[in-house]
Amino acid sequence: MSSYRELLRRTKDEIVEIDTPAARDRTDAIFVDVRERDEWDEGHIPGAVHVPRGNLESRIENAVPDRDTEVVLYCASGARSAFAAKSLGELGYTNVASLAGGFADWKRNGFDVDLPRVLSPEKRARYSRHLAIPEVGEEGQLKLLDSRILILGAGGLGSPAALYLAAAGVGHIGIIDADIVDESNLQRQIAHSLNTLGTPKVDSAKRTIEALNPDVEVKTYRERLSSENIDRILDDGWEIIVDGTDNFPTRYLVNDASVWRGIPVVHGSIYRFEGQVTVFKPGTPGSAVGQGNGARASDGGPCYRCLYASPPPPELAPSCAEGGVLGVLPGIVGTLQTNEAIKLALGIGDPLVGRLLMFDALGTDFHEVRINRKPDCPVCGEHPTITEYVDYVEFCSR
Ligand SMILES: [Zn+2]
Repeated sequence: MSSYRELLRRTKDEIVEIDTPAARDRTDAIFVDVRERDEWDEGHIPGAVHVPRGNLESRIENAVPDRDTEVVLYCASGARSAFAAKSLGELGYTNVASLAGGFADWKRNGFDVDLPRVLSPEKRARYSRHLAIPEVGEEGQLKLLDSRILILGAGGLGSPAALYLAAAGVGHIGIIDADIVDESNLQRQIAHSLNTLGTPKVDSAKRTIEALNPDVEVKTYRERLSSENIDRILDDGWEIIVDGTDNFPTRYLVNDASVWRGIPVVHGSIYRFEGQVTVFKPGTPGSAVGQGNGARASDGGPCYRCLYASPPPPELAPSCAEGGVLGVLPGIVGTLQTNEAIKLALGIGDPLVGRLLMFDALGTDFHEVRINRKPDCPVCGEHPTITEYVDYVEFCSR
């Protein structure tokens, strides 16, 4: 029987140890950090891969497939990495060294250290179902927590959007709505309840979000969007807009602002049993209005004005009488919009750019039509004719 000290000494005799300056000079080597996750999370050597000692034998082939690769193993002080080096030798790795003095000595020498941003244990638990999806993972969850999504309207479409964006851990949610919660809203606007009847919808939605997820910072705008306030609101840095409004003056205003600023808009609309969703992400028209970020006009899909260049003439305008809607329909359309917004925030999947998705609740039928960017669009086209906000007056056919 040998003591731990003797075992470590004998192991060190059988492996190659290098000191910290020599390790730093091994620029072609793969550095493998064999410490535990919490140690890795507190900082590690830049470019290192993390394979905890306990999983070394089973995971090293994935991390370092070629057994002739130059490998530098390290732990906190050089003991665990010494045993790890011996194991790798037994697995047939031919060029393995253990860092004497470990990460502690690396830091003492003042060499570069990567301090990763990581989720706290509480957040790891809350978002564990996201972390289990490789397309999201910890990196994606951190992206969501950093993301800034503005919801227009805290009504039928805005309610499910607010709830699911908050649940997903979108860290910054803005809500614009000037109305107060009314009894007739509760048939579908699930962010509100009897407890908030008569209070501003933005405050009611904020309360609901805060009860669901304290990670979310909610910014409320109790106002009607207009050419007067849209720049002030968008200057707050919103990266994605979920449009749950139901009037065309707002739609045009948001469209024009978002084209000029390069902000994607997830559009949704509902009527009785029918819903529509699409993503307007036209890129920016570049120099046309001097606000673009340099993207070319060929980037991205159509904008709202590519479909409807200007509002309809009064005789064709929709009736302003309150339209009926099946209560669950905004839930379906609003969650589809939320799906698009989350994909855009994560940069994954195929967003509904240039595709109008239509849903018929009675037939439970989805179908999709292509919508194209128009080169002569007055806002995102090659020769834009609209370069400042137009305030349309909302008018109705009766
Ligand atoms: Zn357009």
